[in-house]
Amino acid sequence: FVTRASAAQPLKNADELIDSVETFIFDCDGVIWKGDKLIDGVPETLDLLRSKGKRLVFVTNNSTKSRKQYGKKFETLGLNVSEEEIFASSFAAAAYLKSIDFPKDKKVYVIGEDGILKELELAGFQYLGGPEDGAKKIELKPGFLMEHDKDVGAVVVGFDRYFNYYKVQYGTLCIRENPGCLFIATNRDAVTHLTDAQEWAGGGSMVGALLGSTQREPQVVGKPSTFMMDYVANKFGILKSQICMVGDRLDTDILFGQNGGCKTLLVLSGVTSLSMLQSPNNTIQPDFYTNKISDFLSLKAA
Ligand code: PLP
Ligand code: CA
Repeated sequence: FVTRASAAQPLKNADELIDSVETFIFDCDGVIWKGDKLIDGVPETLDLLRSKGKRLVFVTNNSTKSRKQYGKKFETLGLNVSEEEIFASSFAAAAYLKSIDFPKDKKVYVIGEDGILKELELAGFQYLGGPEDGAKKIELKPGFLMEHDKDVGAVVVGFDRYFNYYKVQYGTLCIRENPGCLFIATNRDAVTHLTDAQEWAGGGSMVGALLGSTQREPQVVGKPSTFMMDYVANKFGILKSQICMVGDRLDTDILFGQNGGCKTLLVLSGVTSLSMLQSPNNTIQPDFYTNKISDFLSLKAA
């Protein structure tokens, strides 16, 4: 993976950046919204970019909703975004399975929430698991053996607020007892910002449990893996050098853009502060940084 050696520059001339690319990929949380709250100036900024003929794409690592559910969220926030422009890591899991021709007679065991189930269903894959799975405590009588479905050919792990030990054991059995079983992670975010009061354990914590028990590395389909970038570029027939990736997080969004050979813009409206960006410990430098995307409306050449 590539990292930029030179320090990020403050964005001074937004028009120059806008004119230099055809497509903007926006991360969602911390860029477009924070939780359920729209970030100031976003509708006007998206309107400006559309009026300049730019293609807009939205990518989120949050796997709890499907593309359709995100479509509703955009609509509720008053944003004119179509489902085809939205690429969530839930969608990426189903798209990845399609891309490798995962057999329709095999099943997917899901550790995760509704978004993944909806996307698998839409793609025509058989699945089991999901949020309600194994809610009861396992009673360990002598000789107790947990059965598992031998038709499971992939385990998909995403963020799951109903995570439990049953799911870990079930997923582990699927992977350990079948060397051909795939281990797919929607994302490996260490922390997430469910509320702004603290940092919460992210999707990486659920993935980490299975990694610990199986000693297998997952195939990540969300940011920063190249899968979604390649998928988006192929889908719309765009050159990755003609994309600017805009995000609030260095180790997912900015790395995602850099891994794809795109231009990168860090916004400080989410989880990364200027001091984090400029810390000597930080090795990931975007091309540019600015406070928020609505700076596109005001940052003009002097
Ligand atoms: N995963 C979960 C569960 C989240 O709640 C969030 C943000 O709210 C994310 C991932 C990161 O989302 P994004 O990639 O849009 O920043
Ligand atoms: Ca984000």
